[in-house]
Amino acid sequence: MNIKISLPDGSVREFPQGTTGYDVALSISEGLARNALAIEVNGEVRDLSRALPEVASIKILTWNDPAGKNTFWHSSAHLLAEALEALYPGVKFGIGPPIDNGFYYDVDLGGRSLGEADLAAIESKVKELAKKESRFQRRDVTKAEALAYFTEKGDQYKLELINELADGTITFYEQGNFTDLCRGPHIPHTGFIKAFKLMNVAGAYWRGNEKNKMLTRLYGITFPKQKELDEHIHLLEEAKKRDHRKLGKELELFTFSEKVGMGLPLWLPKGTILRERLEQFMRRAQVKAGYDPVVTPHIGGKQLYVTSGHYEKYGKDSFQPIRTPDENEEFLLKPMNCPHHCEIYKSKPRSYRDLPVRLAEFGTVYRYEQSGELHGLTRVRGFTQDDAHIFCRPDQVKAEFVKVIDLVLHVFNSLGFTNYTAQVSLRDPANKEKYIGEDELWNRAEREIQEAADERGLKTVAVQGEAAFYGPKLDFMIKDALGRSWQLGTIQVDYILPQRFELEYVGSDNQRHRPVMIHRAPFGSLERFVAVLIEHCAGNFPLWLAPDQIAVLPISERFNDYAAEVFGKLKEFDIRGFLDDRDEKIGRKIRDAETKKIPFMLIVGEREAAEGKVAVRKHGQGDQGSLDLEEFITSFRKEIATP
Ligand SMILES: [Zn+2]
Ligand SMILES: [Zn+2]
Repeated sequence: MNIKISLPDGSVREFPQGTTGYDVALSISEGLARNALAIEVNGEVRDLSRALPEVASIKILTWNDPAGKNTFWHSSAHLLAEALEALYPGVKFGIGPPIDNGFYYDVDLGGRSLGEADLAAIESKVKELAKKESRFQRRDVTKAEALAYFTEKGDQYKLELINELADGTITFYEQGNFTDLCRGPHIPHTGFIKAFKLMNVAGAYWRGNEKNKMLTRLYGITFPKQKELDEHIHLLEEAKKRDHRKLGKELELFTFSEKVGMGLPLWLPKGTILRERLEQFMRRAQVKAGYDPVVTPHIGGKQLYVTSGHYEKYGKDSFQPIRTPDENEEFLLKPMNCPHHCEIYKSKPRSYRDLPVRLAEFGTVYRYEQSGELHGLTRVRGFTQDDAHIFCRPDQVKAEFVKVIDLVLHVFNSLGFTNYTAQVSLRDPANKEKYIGEDELWNRAEREIQEAADERGLKTVAVQGEAAFYGPKLDFMIKDALGRSWQLGTIQVDYILPQRFELEYVGSDNQRHRPVMIHRAPFGSLERFVAVLIEHCAGNFPLWLAPDQIAVLPISERFNDYAAEVFGKLKEFDIRGFLDDRDEKIGRKIRDAETKKIPFMLIVGEREAAEGKVAVRKHGQGDQGSLDLEEFITSFRKEIATP
C-alpha cells in the first residue's frame, strides 16, 4: 500500500512505503533536494532520511525556513562539539541549542581557558570536519545503553540529562567520530556547513543555576555560503555603529543615571526636541483623525487595577503599591492607560450617536522589568505610549480599523519605514471557550479586520490561535535598514475591559449596549520607537525631526558678525541649529558638524558676507553651491515642514 503525502500547495501524492523526506524532495526537483535541510511532517520537524508515515502533510525545509535554519544551526553545534572533542579529549558537554543568530554549546574544558590561538584552532578544525560530509545518523537507544555510554565517557552532564528521560524515548545522533544525546532533527551531513565563525566565549552556569559549575559557552554561527557569513558580519558591524545606546550618547539624546534608577531614561535637550517633534506630528495626525486628547495621572487607586484585571496579572510581579499616611489608601504606578480612559468614558452617559469616542494620551506607564532584561531604550521601566482607546459600536469596528491603519501607514511613510507586513491574530477555532466575548462579535470583528487590511492593500498573514483571550488584533512588523524585524503599531480589539468597567451606551433602540474598545499605539512607546528610528536611520533623522537642522560655520573670526546675522535670520523662521563661532579652523568645524550628523552646514566667508549669501553643505554629500540667504530659507522651510 502506498503512503499519502500532502504537499504545501494542497496537492496529495502517493509514494511507496519507506519513502523518505529526501525522496519526496527529489521527486519535486533536484534543486530542492540539493538544498533540503529537514522536513516538517504533520507539524513536527524531522530528519530528511527518515521514512515518512502513511499519511502526512509535509513541507521540505531549506535555509529560507526558520525551522530549516534552526536545524542547520543545531547541527552545527554538534559539529563544533566534534571539533572540540578532537582538540581537547575528555571535554564534557552540557547543551548545544540553536539561538536567534547561530547556536552555542556549553562545555566543561576541565578548567582550561581558551586563548586567541585556541579559537583559531577550533575554527579550522570545524572547517576541516565539515568538509568530510559526515552524515548525521539517528539511533534509538535504551536508557541503560545511553547511561552506559556516557558513564564510560565520564560525562556527568549528559548523565544528568539522561536520568530525566523516560526509557524508550532516547536517541543518539552520530556524525564522524562524535556521538551525542539528542532528539534531533539534523541536516543530512556536515558538508552543508560551508562557513563558520566563533562569535563569543562566555561563562554559563550549568542549567543556569549559580550553585552549579560554571561551564564555557561557545557561541558560533554557520552558513551554507561563505558570502552569507561575510554579509552577516558586515551587518553586525553596521548594527554596532548604529546601536541606539552608542548614538544616543554621541548625539546627546538621552542618558541614564544610577541615582534616578535603572531603566528610567533621562531625555537630554536634543533628545527632547526629537521626542517633542514626534509627539507633535502624532497629535496633529490624531486631531485630523477625530481623536480627543486627554490627560490622566501617573498613578491610580489599587481598586482601578483590580477592576481592570491588571492587578491580578501584574500586581505581585511589578512595582508594589504606594501607601499614603492614611492607611486605607493604596495606589499603583500605572502599568496601562486603558483603565483611566474607561473611567473617562464613564464620566457621562453615552448614546449611539456619540460613538466612536476616541481618547488619546501620551501616557507614561511604569512596568517592572528585571534588571538583566533592561536594554537601552528598548526595554525600560518607565515609558510613554502614544496611546489611544476607541470606544465604538460593533458596526463601527471596520471603519475604525481602516482609519487606524491609515494612521499607522502615515507614521511609517513619514519616517522612512517602507518595508512592512501585518499579521491578523485570530481565535483558535478549536478552543473557542478560551475567549471572552460573543461568538458572533468575534466572527464579525475577525472578518472585518481582514477586510480593513485588504482594503488598504496590506500584505497580511492570518494566524489562528494568536489572538489575546479578550479580542483579535492586527500587528505590524517593519523591517529596518539592516533587515531586522520590529513589531510596531498593534491594533487590538477588546471585549473584556468594557465588561469589567460596565461601559454602556444607549442604542437607537433605547436599550443599553456594550461598546467595543480598540487599543492602538502606532509608535508603541516613544522610547522604543526612538531606539528603532535611531538604528534605522543611523542617527541621520529626517530634517523635520533633526534636533539640530543647521550649523552656521564662519570661515574665520572676521565673519562671526555676518554668521550671527545669518543664524538670527534662521531662528526667526524656527529653524533649529547652532552657530559655531569657536576659534577653530573651518575644516575642523565641518568635521565636527559631520560627526554630529547635522543635516546642513552654512559656511560663510568673505564672498558670502559681501553678497548676502551662504555656501551650503549637506551632511555626507558635501558642497551644494552658494545661495542667497533668503532663497535658501524659502526652499529650506518647505523641506523641514512636519509631514
Ligand atoms: Zn542534536
Ligand atoms: Zn489600552
